[in-house]
Amino acid sequence: MTTLAERVKQAQARIAHAAHQADRSADEILLLAVSKTKPAEMIRQAHAAGLNHFGENYLQESVEKIEQLRDLPLIWHFIGPLQSNKTRPVAERFDWVHSVDRLKIAQRLSEQRPAELPALNVCLQINISREASKSGVLPEQLTEVAAQIAKLPNLTLRGLMAIPQASDDPAQQRAAFAQMQSLLHQLKALHPTMDTLSMGMSGDLEAAIAQGSTIVRIGTAIFGRRPPLNKETNQRG
Ligand SMILES: *Cc1c(COP(=O)(O)O)cnc(C)c1O
Repeated sequence: MTTLAERVKQAQARIAHAAHQADRSADEILLLAVSKTKPAEMIRQAHAAGLNHFGENYLQESVEKIEQLRDLPLIWHFIGPLQSNKTRPVAERFDWVHSVDRLKIAQRLSEQRPAELPALNVCLQINISREASKSGVLPEQLTEVAAQIAKLPNLTLRGLMAIPQASDDPAQQRAAFAQMQSLLHQLKALHPTMDTLSMGMSGDLEAAIAQGSTIVRIGTAIFGRRPPLNKETNQRG
């Protein structure tokens, strides 16, 4: 049995090793701890082990945990599917949203962002493997959508996020991440605030870091396995 603090250390060591292999500084890569389905108490332990950034997918659950953890200086990232009628609590409570997949969501987040808070950091989710089951902007729509979102007053367009099709083949993992890197590179020339590539999870963070990832989203490797998926799909948004 490993403790949560040990698993945090192991994840940090994996990131450091992957950065070294890629000739990058580990300081460029943020470990986002994905705490969906896990209790507030585990987030407390992860914070005590040195983590500040937490990612959540399910609105109801995350709002409760953010409330319970208000005494800690945590930075909250919304990374799950977002329905347009449920954007307000996200605009009011989160610091980042990685899963913006259409203009309408971005417009609502910008309108609903409270004036006293700094601009909300957003990433566009890209459907990089063109899967019918996944949401996300398709690469050929990206230039247009990014131009519209970049104009919104209360958002800062920070970059791109993707969940490539699962694969055990490192070459295939790398190909999808390389495409993401190239898309960000093109867009950055037009939108200098775009400095973020949110890609890589417990199973493929090495491949993602090799292709320029700046945020890896790690759940299982830190918090352990999650309950079966039906709980997750029932709680969308
Ligand atoms: C659950 C989730 C993760 C974490 O995945 P693990 O394989 O548990 O590390 C990362 N990103 C998103 C968008 C997720 O929904």
